Amino acid sequence: MAKGYKAAAREMLASQPEVRASVTKATLHFHANRERAYGEVDAESWRDWAATVKRHLLSRLDHYLLLAEEKLSGNGVEVHWAENAADAQQILSRLVKRHDVKKVVKGKSMLSEELEVNSLLQRLGVEVFETDLGEYIIQLAEEPPSHIVGPAIHKSLDDIRALFAKRLGTARDASPEELAAAARRVLREAFLSADMGISGGNFVVAESGTLVLVENEGNIRLTTSAPRVHVALVGIEKLLPRTRDLEVFLQLLARAATGQKLGIFTSLISGPRRPDESDGPEVMHVIFVDNGRSSVLADDEMQEALSCIRCGACLNACPVYRQTGGHAYGQVYSGPIGIVLTPGLKDPALAAELGYACSLCTACADVCPVRIPLPKQILAWRRRAAESGAGGPLEKWLFDGYANIVSKPRFYRMSAKMLRAFKGLTSAPWLPVIGAWASGHGGLEPSPKSFHQIWEEELANE
Ligand code: SF4
Repeated sequence: MAKGYKAAAREMLASQPEVRASVTKATLHFHANRERAYGEVDAESWRDWAATVKRHLLSRLDHYLLLAEEKLSGNGVEVHWAENAADAQQILSRLVKRHDVKKVVKGKSMLSEELEVNSLLQRLGVEVFETDLGEYIIQLAEEPPSHIVGPAIHKSLDDIRALFAKRLGTARDASPEELAAAARRVLREAFLSADMGISGGNFVVAESGTLVLVENEGNIRLTTSAPRVHVALVGIEKLLPRTRDLEVFLQLLARAATGQKLGIFTSLISGPRRPDESDGPEVMHVIFVDNGRSSVLADDEMQEALSCIRCGACLNACPVYRQTGGHAYGQVYSGPIGIVLTPGLKDPALAAELGYACSLCTACADVCPVRIPLPKQILAWRRRAAESGAGGPLEKWLFDGYANIVSKPRFYRMSAKMLRAFKGLTSAPWLPVIGAWASGHGGLEPSPKSFHQIWEEELANE
């Protein structure tokens, strides 16, 4: 993380205060849609079932990966394995060379962000077009995505108008329809002339070797079928054991992400074009990518994070994410799942700051369609950061002192009495450890009577 969450969030809120309004509006909208959509079905049972399927999958991931490879290969797909981002980049570079690729169209894929695919392609002299409208907007703005599902939610309509006027020559007061039409004109041409389409993969069904892609714009269908080569980048955790698992996962994903019953387009791709088919790529490659996932799998406290289906519901529910959007986290994955996954995938030291971009309100756990225990995992990262001494000696000293006080009744009562005398002190921004919190809140108003006094009075009155 170049700058650190606290500094980046502070800077962003000072220099782009409008981001807060755009992100809050979009996430509240997604969140309300999810609530309504969960309410239409027996969501709690679906979530239990989905969590069980994913837990089973992770417990036998090696078996399902080999099965998926066998089935995909049988379907005529070339399967590759990448241990890390450098491996994945090497494989992709070889494929670009082998298939003489000059132009690439891409569907939305967080894994491709993780692997920095766009900068690799540019270095290789390949022209690359993001084809999801949100991704296309941020590609034009030369920014990373700020949300798993809505990469450009931090931009207002006016931001996009100004961007398109500058980059595509549209009118400064263009309507959303005119803006979409301008993007469509560019992307249609790109679809027709691209040599390679790169997609991610929402799921791969192991028993049949089927790549499953969910979208709302139809751009992924074109990306995976118009160019002569299709490459899918898939994290090793994205498998489902059986085709029938899709029944629940497809609905849960759509309901959790946007409140839809299903995504508008669901593609089940079982290989390249067959001799009797008129559409589809001549060749298809799947690159299974580890890039730190095996370490997360080996970590008992964190492995359930690999169940994530990237719906973004935990970001939408998170009061911290809503205030800053994703860029302040400085990582590909933001919000609660980003806090849990990033230190595991990249570097545990990142938990020292990311772990505290959380109010521990537990809203993320309430919404996660696969019941990932995010708050518990965030606390575990905090514990590990504290154990490694990342919080400095002051934090340890303060918490040791606190533990001493609350475990000795006489001390506890005496300290509570003293605190009541310092009314208003807790609003002081210069206080150690709680200063950042205090500067954004009013001072605490201690009750004139302690809990024990009230309790004794109640007992006396009974
Ligand atoms: S952790 Fe759960 S809620 Fe968050 S993106 Fe992943 S599946 Fe969705």
